[in-house]
Amino acid sequence: MQFQKISFEESLENFVIKPRICVGCGSCVAVCPFNCLEYAAHGPKIISECKSCGICAQICPRFNFSMQLSERFVFGRERAVDEEFGIYKRIVIAQTTSDDVRRACQDGGLVTSLLLFALENGFVNGAVISGESSNEPLKAVPKLALSRDEVLHYAGTRYTYSPNMLALRDAVLKKIGKVIFVGTPCQIHAVRKIQMLPLKRYADVLSISIGLFCSESFTYEGLVNKFVQEKLRITPSEVLKMNIKGKLILKMKNGEVKTASLKDIKEYACRFCATCPDFSAELADISAGGLGLEGWTLTIIRTERGEELFKKAEAAGAVRVRPVESEENKIVELLTRISKRKRENAIKTC
Ligand SMILES: Cc1cc2nc3c(=O)[nH]c(=O)nc-3n(C[C@H](O)[C@H](O)[C@H](O)COP(=O)(O)OP(=O)(O)OC[C@H]3O[C@@H](n4cnc5c(N)ncnc54)[C@H](O)[C@@H]3O)c2cc1C
Repeated sequence: MQFQKISFEESLENFVIKPRICVGCGSCVAVCPFNCLEYAAHGPKIISECKSCGICAQICPRFNFSMQLSERFVFGRERAVDEEFGIYKRIVIAQTTSDDVRRACQDGGLVTSLLLFALENGFVNGAVISGESSNEPLKAVPKLALSRDEVLHYAGTRYTYSPNMLALRDAVLKKIGKVIFVGTPCQIHAVRKIQMLPLKRYADVLSISIGLFCSESFTYEGLVNKFVQEKLRITPSEVLKMNIKGKLILKMKNGEVKTASLKDIKEYACRFCATCPDFSAELADISAGGLGLEGWTLTIIRTERGEELFKKAEAAGAVRVRPVESEENKIVELLTRISKRKRENAIKTC
């Protein structure tokens, strides 16, 4: 990739922040070698004179991002026209075998099981994931997890945006060694740009990436403050788990379940998500989503590295796979439809 020395103002400020397509992933803040940027509100803020090194522009998932170049880097080829949700090796419906994980996870607990397996079997020293803010319930915040207890504690989905790249910076600064990275599709784009450059300090620690399917994320002010608290009159700290399965489902700590229509929360979706063409984290080593399944995770194993981790976790009995059945075809059809729609909508919106 050709390296261009360009300032933050000439690149990201003009072409990403002003047009309001910044996803707030925090990659630019994390990698700036001169600490010129800080993460403020929902994105980068310049706090000292930019030295025009150009690194932030090189790794931003919204500046000169090319899916074709990235595919050639990750898979050695570009996708064929009928590979609607990207290149992959195989698709399975998977589930944790651990009761601890099942209690804490969002869908099948596949992601948490793979994180635990990787951590406990010497694949990695840490997991870059997302947890919940200690003072703002239901708010996603980046976390670097170094132990089984931490990984379990941070299982489950928060539907607000979590700049997990900031936890990757922690891993680099703390010199903890190799990490497994979990993130939304836009964050996996940034991971691949870092590896393609390569920005060695970061690329060297990134061992494997798990991408989460993502239609959209939501603003905290909108989804939690306005909708959950003001409209539904629910205290956020009383919510045990939030899920989206055709509707918004809130499992309360007292055992009650409350639901709301997705139409009612649409207005709180992050604006920048409408310009994202990638539903199923098409560049991740492994992609995972619920896609309407109850207690199982639809899992797309895309790369050799992903296959190696998954096979070993399965052989060790950490995850189980549901036998292939006719339902799988329906799920693949659904995945194809959603992926196409997301890409087409992004093209219309851009
Ligand atoms: C914003 C968002 C939107 C999503 N939209 C869809 C969708 O439309 N359709 C679909 O099928 N699936 C969607 N998912 C994925 C789904 O919610 C589950 O994460 C996935 O099915 C894996 O389930 P699991 O039980 O295997 O994961 P778990 O074992 O529960 O592990 C989930 C992991 O995700 C991490 N995490 C939690 N919240 C975030 C966050 N905000 N950002 C980054 N990492 C996070 C946790 O730290 C944990 O490590 C979405 C996820 C997010 C974060």
